[in-house]
Amino acid sequence: MSLERVAEISRAIGCEVVENARMEDFTSFRIGGPADLLITAKTPDMVRRVRQACAEFNLPLFFIGNGTNLLVSDKGMRGVVLRLDGEGKTPVIKDGLVLCEAGISLKTLCRFARDSGLSGLEFAYGIPGTVGGAVYMNAGAFDGWISDVIEWAEAVFENGETKRLSRDEMKFGYRKSVFMDSPAIVVSAAFRLKPGNPAGISERMEEYLRTRKEKQPLEFPSAGSFFKRPEGNFAGALIENCGLRGCRVGGAQISQKHCGFIINLGGATCSDVKALADKVIKTVYRNHGIKLEPEVCFVGEE
Ligand SMILES: Cc1cc2nc3c(=O)[nH]c(=O)nc-3n(C[C@H](O)[C@H](O)[C@H](O)COP(=O)(O)OP(=O)(O)OC[C@H]3O[C@@H](n4cnc5c(N)ncnc54)[C@H](O)[C@@H]3O)c2cc1C
Repeated sequence: MSLERVAEISRAIGCEVVENARMEDFTSFRIGGPADLLITAKTPDMVRRVRQACAEFNLPLFFIGNGTNLLVSDKGMRGVVLRLDGEGKTPVIKDGLVLCEAGISLKTLCRFARDSGLSGLEFAYGIPGTVGGAVYMNAGAFDGWISDVIEWAEAVFENGETKRLSRDEMKFGYRKSVFMDSPAIVVSAAFRLKPGNPAGISERMEEYLRTRKEKQPLEFPSAGSFFKRPEGNFAGALIENCGLRGCRVGGAQISQKHCGFIINLGGATCSDVKALADKVIKTVYRNHGIKLEPEVCFVGEE
């Protein structure tokens, strides 16, 4: 009943609503059972209103970006999965900051910065998530971090209030932000970048992309590096050292190309991936005394 009411309200304010949405179609791993309701909001205000409706009807709500750091349960997700559509939205420059909605892809943001002659986001080109997901995860690569360039973000809290948080208030760390401890949804962000030469910026972006293509198994569905980097070490090197390259459970495999990636060879289930990840964690711990922690977020019904 409450699902129907939230679906009705969401449609009435202009959101797209899909019942029993196949989460495998919304994750880069191509894994996951159905979500009761998948709601796509077109504006931050719609996010706020759907959030309020879920609170009113006591429905669980999970926010997703591009689903590139998610492993969704085979049983799917109960309640509402909400996303903010970034299609066709472009950043703007105001008061020396690049402002954008959180639903746009990092790729769009990086290209905008390049075309505006602004440097600082080159590292993020090739990370396949949204701006919101990158803020939540404090995404980083090639020694660059979202926390280096973000000035503030606006987020919708459970009571429907929208607040602006400064960089300090977001308490960034390695793959860490304040949003992991609070159910706030990032709806927009502002970045402080430095003037740069568009040709040089473009060159660095393409170089990073080439490195990714060379080193990462981009030809297979995955959620990127599966494990966090343990201090003073690399997850991929530890896994390789344990002889786990190519190790398989069902359709899930430790990539032959990069041992830090678990890939979906086709038809992998969430259970396959979890079983393989458990095996890796146990083996690395036994051989090296280091406990690997997944970077990928597990979500959905256990
Ligand atoms: C091939 C590949 C390469 C990758 N390389 C990198 C890399 O180099 N560096 C790196 O850091 N990551 C990398 N990733 C992982 C992933 O792309 C990033 O973590 C990205 O920031 C996730 O963004 P997303 O929009 O896909 O978020 P999702 O995967 O949809 O969500 C991840 C988490 O963020 C939360 N979230 C998403 N949007 C919001 C929002 N607006 N407000 C609040 N919470 C939100 C979700 O609730 C969830 O908990 C890679 C992934 C792949 C598949």
